[in-house]
Amino acid sequence: MTYREPTIHHPALMVACSECGSVRGAACYGKAGQRMTGVHKERAEFYQEQKTS
Ligand SMILES: [Zn+2]
Repeated sequence: MTYREPTIHHPALMVACSECGSVRGAACYGKAGQRMTGVHKERAEFYQEQKTS
């Protein structure tokens, strides 16, 4: 079973971002308010911690 929510394009979106304040499932936003194609480094690291713990 590999079903994913269509709005989630990055696995790290499953956690909230402590850097820009985005909630679960929401994309990261840059300093100018633009939607980021990726995620913040902090969020990616937090996701890895959640996944491995
Ligand atoms: Zn972010």
